[in-house]
Amino acid sequence: MAISTTVQSSGKVVIRGIGLLLSGDIDRPILDADTIVVQDGLITAVGRQKDCDTAAAAQVIDCRGTAVAPGLIDSHVHPVFGDWTPRQNQLGWIESCMHGGVTTMVSAGEVHLPGRPRDIVGVKALAITAQRAFEGMRAAGIGGGVKVHAGAPVIEQGMTEEDFAELAAGGVKLLGEIGLGSVKAGAEAGRMVKWARKHGMRSTIHTGGPSIPGSGLIDEDVVLEADADVIGHVNGGHTSLSYRAVCKLCEQSSRALEIVHNGNERIAILTARHAIELKCPHRIILGTDSPAGSGVQPLGILRLIALISSLADVPAEMAFAFATGNTARLRDLPQGLVETGRPADFVFMDKAQHSSGADLLDSVRLGDIPGIGMVMIDGIVRCARSRNTPPATEVPIVVAA
Ligand SMILES: [Zn+2]
Repeated sequence: MAISTTVQSSGKVVIRGIGLLLSGDIDRPILDADTIVVQDGLITAVGRQKDCDTAAAAQVIDCRGTAVAPGLIDSHVHPVFGDWTPRQNQLGWIESCMHGGVTTMVSAGEVHLPGRPRDIVGVKALAITAQRAFEGMRAAGIGGGVKVHAGAPVIEQGMTEEDFAELAAGGVKLLGEIGLGSVKAGAEAGRMVKWARKHGMRSTIHTGGPSIPGSGLIDEDVVLEADADVIGHVNGGHTSLSYRAVCKLCEQSSRALEIVHNGNERIAILTARHAIELKCPHRIILGTDSPAGSGVQPLGILRLIALISSLADVPAEMAFAFATGNTARLRDLPQGLVETGRPADFVFMDKAQHSSGADLLDSVRLGDIPGIGMVMIDGIVRCARSRNTPPATEVPIVVAA
């Protein structure tokens, strides 16, 4: 059976009655606005309702005073094909994460594919196929319509600059986690990272001890020498480098510091604190590093936001920016900000019922995860009240369609 790849268009959508609008921008995390106007999947206006052209909308959503944020971005996932993971043999994990507010995922390598090729031709073929397949899957709305940026080859010894040029020409924009293949030395990895960068591809390196039997240790000296764009799971995945080593990475590199759910939680908190002390919160991005031995975490990004906000004393609106605008900027994605011209990917939230927090941000600061009332991708409502979060106190309603 052929799957349609027609991309549905949202037409004009008006989102009004917003009680709190989080921008995703760490420098200005809260916007003074109660209305967003969307046209064909892109934001065309953000402001006060009286100042926005809200006429002739195909759909009107009344937020009833709830909060809106950019859709969450999971900076570190390991997809394989379709909405299936062989790691824990689960179906529907991507769509489940959409119910946790995730609207974009970035692959750190399709490493769980049974029989994954290790020869260079096979590595390139898999990357190009994965990129195409996930792009087509998203267009068809499979996996809840989540934007899965996949096709992230794990570099192997013997690759040349021509291989990177060929991958880039084939539509590949990412490298999978460096260190999961045969390239484990800093100098060799650094040479390939430069080739990747030259051809417009962003790179991530595995940091810390081996994740599963068969993978290896990547220490702070290798990470610094490789100089990948993203210091992947700086808090380990799961086994972390020492806090002293992580401080060295914070201080001697200017690259993105990726904190993951499936890592060492103590180091996650200490890294966030240290980055803020060093006045570089712009470098913190969040991922789950799932599916993994720890399973799939549909609420992983929300849980990480609540963990960091409550235990590292980070304002909740800033923690949301880690998972949205920061990741988008450091991974060169157009989404992640509530701003004119950006994709209309939103998560609608309120404090969970019976949270002791006074409002959404207070509840997160106290360590509770929010309730999600709706998720929108490219201006299209993908779910109403989440089936996975605790129930939101108030939820948005579609008042005209
Ligand atoms: Zn890893």
